[in-house]
Amino acid sequence: MSSARITVTPEHLLRQEVLALHAYHVPSSTGMAKLDAMENPYALPPQLRDEIARLVADAAINRYPDASAQHLKEKIRAVTGLPQGMEVLLGNGSDEIIQLLALAVAKPGATLLGVEPSFVMYKMIAAFVGMNYIGVPLTENFSLDLPAMLNAIQRHQPALVFLAYPNNPTGNLFDAEAIAQIIGAAPGLVVVDEAYYVFASASFIPMLARYSNLLVMRTFSKLGMAGLRLGFLAGSKAWLEQLEKLRLPYNVGVLTQLVAEKLLQHHDILLQQAEQIKQDRTWLYGRLVGTVDVRAYPSEANFILFHVAHATKVFEGLKQRGVLIKNMNAAHTALTDCLRVTVGTPDENELFIRALQESIHQSKNDI
Ligand code: PMP
Repeated sequence: MSSARITVTPEHLLRQEVLALHAYHVPSSTGMAKLDAMENPYALPPQLRDEIARLVADAAINRYPDASAQHLKEKIRAVTGLPQGMEVLLGNGSDEIIQLLALAVAKPGATLLGVEPSFVMYKMIAAFVGMNYIGVPLTENFSLDLPAMLNAIQRHQPALVFLAYPNNPTGNLFDAEAIAQIIGAAPGLVVVDEAYYVFASASFIPMLARYSNLLVMRTFSKLGMAGLRLGFLAGSKAWLEQLEKLRLPYNVGVLTQLVAEKLLQHHDILLQQAEQIKQDRTWLYGRLVGTVDVRAYPSEANFILFHVAHATKVFEGLKQRGVLIKNMNAAHTALTDCLRVTVGTPDENELFIRALQESIHQSKNDI
């Protein structure tokens, strides 16, 4: 037998959907005011940090974690105020839960439906698992186009619908009545993704008992635990006991379980930080609205989307001045010349506004 072997290349071996993907890009932020990823900018009080240090020192990291994360789940139930009979499934971030849901329903030809513009991972994960993806455009002011949604549901019979509430990157809450109609019309699951719930004035958690095809997903990333990677899905036992089968064993590590439990014992501290961020959002929105050539969109999240001429130049100007935000310009046609800034500390917000004014000025002079 010849030892000659045809070289195996990624192009030959991998699925076309995978080859066509662009990896989720995370830019370097070294030395910059980091206002690109909707993180909570505040550190924890020193006493709580010391408690965490002791917990970590004593943690049995030689052992696998509690596979069912029982204590942590109880804490989550308590702080979330889940309706009677609802269960919790934990993910290594809510990204993992999106993937788990998609895997569960990905029969050949199954469809995942979302809106556009919205969180990009819904579309990416549909590609990961080989589902069809349908993105229904939002209206010009980024609200749900209910007739178009109902039409798409009728036509494509999606197994899974994702609605971010508030939506990322637009920051708004969709009309709750329109969502209710979508849940009523959908032949499959509707997942209301409440990643930014802590900054918003409304939630679908109280609606869980009303709709058998509704699930609510949340993350603790924006509350101040982005580094721990912890998200959860809430819903009825009938759904969650099936979905649990797809959760990889030990997906939530020992340190995440211990530290998240401790932080949820001090939930009030994180809620106070969120309250501060909401107040600073009002300040930042006012300053953006008052900046010449900027059009800012109202937000119920910890970020603000805004439109500015020559957005990419302005974005680069901000970077040169040590401020990293997110350039949405190429993400979607509805986001042309749009940038998204995360609400930071008051100092960071002021730095951003100053740098923005200078960058806009510079971008005009460059033309
Ligand atoms: N859903 C939405 C709407 C988001 O914006 C994000 C993060 N940007 C996530 C889910 C994922 O969050 P994580 O994986 O950190 O829980």
